[in-house]
Amino acid sequence: MINKKSSGSEWYNEIIETASLVDKRYPVKGMNVLPPYGFKLVSIVDSIIREAVNSNGFEESMFPMLISRDQLSVEFEHVKGFEGQVFWVTRGGNEPLEVDLALRPTSEAAMYPMFSLWIRTHSDLPLKLYQIVNTYRYETKHTRAFIRDREIHFFEAHTAHADFDDSERQMQEYKQIMKNISQKLCLPYVINKRPEWDKFPGSQYSLAFDLILPSGRSLQIGTIHQYGENFAKNYDIRYSDPAGERKLVSQTTYGMSGRLIAAIVFMHGDDKGLVLPPYVAPIQFIIVPIPGENRNLAKYSTRVLEQIASLGYRVRLDNRGSYTPGFKYNDWEMRGVPFRIEIGSKETEGNFITIVPRNTGKRSKIQISELQNSLASAVTTLQDDLMKAAEEKMREMTVQVNDIKNAKTSTGMIRLMWCGRKECADKIEQETELSCLGYPQDDSGEGKCVICSLPAKPAYFSRTY
Ligand SMILES: [Zn+2]
Repeated sequence: MINKKSSGSEWYNEIIETASLVDKRYPVKGMNVLPPYGFKLVSIVDSIIREAVNSNGFEESMFPMLISRDQLSVEFEHVKGFEGQVFWVTRGGNEPLEVDLALRPTSEAAMYPMFSLWIRTHSDLPLKLYQIVNTYRYETKHTRAFIRDREIHFFEAHTAHADFDDSERQMQEYKQIMKNISQKLCLPYVINKRPEWDKFPGSQYSLAFDLILPSGRSLQIGTIHQYGENFAKNYDIRYSDPAGERKLVSQTTYGMSGRLIAAIVFMHGDDKGLVLPPYVAPIQFIIVPIPGENRNLAKYSTRVLEQIASLGYRVRLDNRGSYTPGFKYNDWEMRGVPFRIEIGSKETEGNFITIVPRNTGKRSKIQISELQNSLASAVTTLQDDLMKAAEEKMREMTVQVNDIKNAKTSTGMIRLMWCGRKECADKIEQETELSCLGYPQDDSGEGKCVICSLPAKPAYFSRTY
């Protein structure tokens, strides 16, 4: 296994394939196969997202993958923003199509014509929908599984509100939802307001959830966008208010992708392989029997398996006869299973199990009678440990610099004073090869721009994925 610290990107490329999260041998560039273990992980993250948005009044829906050129062209900034990235379907069989069809790069143009039919009066608002589908973008940069794919596993929420204030409330709700999701994934982040030139095409402003990975590069794991009335104007999405007046709705969106998987892999993994937080792990407990004198081993192991399963955990018994326990330990550690359970003669006779958390590797005993409480507390402890470790890594990788020279030689999320003007950001980007992430939302510092010395606020710059 490649060393993670010294070669983060190669480590990532290797581990996602060795651990069966993805098979990159599919013969279409930027499109990968998810084998069962990887698909299960993706599905669990999806279900965490579903639970979080459903409990906030969102409803799941499904819109077509193909969008006509006319539909896509309705909002000018939006279509311009995706111009170079759209896959086009231009033929049906041997016939050229009358109208070219785009594979959705995102679904505004698929959804909003329907919103304009569905929304009639103020009682139809707020409308809060989402879908989890694949989207398609013709990426010309180097593709990387889960980070920059041409087929993207995508969560997108779209809302419509009676006025701007209500859509601003929605933006706050998104932040709470993200907090809830990220705690389960053990992923800390900062919220950055993207600069004007990097906001979502057609939006008023965009906030991004950025985390800084141990490699020193930042990864955007989610974005929320305030559209105001911009799309509503173009797609004619109006409602009658209580006085009968026709008004435009105000809209927001929230997007996340397979990058959440990349963040989990990158943030928690080590030289032995993946480390998966218990909440997301496809297998939370792996039972490895250690063959010995005791004849009850098989029966006892099965009993433990059934008991743990009955508590609602994802558990598996590794019965593969042709492998040694040592081989199995390494194999499941590499796949990031949060807990190994060892069962040998002592355990069978003493009516207990030996449990080994993936992060510490420290063995401890749990009596069968204590299983329920002890497993629950082991899960909580591991979740907490991973979150704390990730927060610590983020802190280590966040660097305050006072001048452009120091920015050049530092790695991580660089905090520096920036006046907000594009010409200064361009200069910083050129000299440091970092990208402007924008202004963090929870930082009220003040100072002078590192380029022009005008009054400035702290901004983040980093290398990005
Ligand atoms: Zn400046």
